Amino acid sequence: MAEPGSGQKSEEEWRAILSPEQFRILRQKGTEARGTGEYNKFNGEGVYTCAGCGTPLYRSTTKFDSGCGWPAFFEGFPGAINRTPDPDGRRTEITCAACGGHLGHVFKGEGFATPTDERHCVNSVSIKFASASTQ
Ligand SMILES: [Zn+2]
Repeated sequence: MAEPGSGQKSEEEWRAILSPEQFRILRQKGTEARGTGEYNKFNGEGVYTCAGCGTPLYRSTTKFDSGCGWPAFFEGFPGAINRTPDPDGRRTEITCAACGGHLGHVFKGEGFATPTDERHCVNSVSIKFASASTQ
């Protein structure tokens, strides 16, 4: 795995590092099938890092059960996640600030009982869990 903050790579470099499914989602902004993700119903304690570059993105303490079919977080690490409005003007894409990898989308004001009332809807393929006990 690359060091955090190693930044931008060429498409070819990413293809060599990532699995085909990771490449499809992280680099081509794909979406994993609803309810199939490794972390959808996962509740381990630790940190989720970017599957592309290893930058810490979310703490497990910010993960909540939204029932949407993908892992949901109410808050990322400060500065770790970029937000970009989708061209359709309806959704906001979230990406890893270090490598630009596509994570998913963020939704606000849905009424979830969380401190931020935001839902970061993230593909399991885009993140990697590291247990608190192994850090
Ligand atoms: Zn990254």
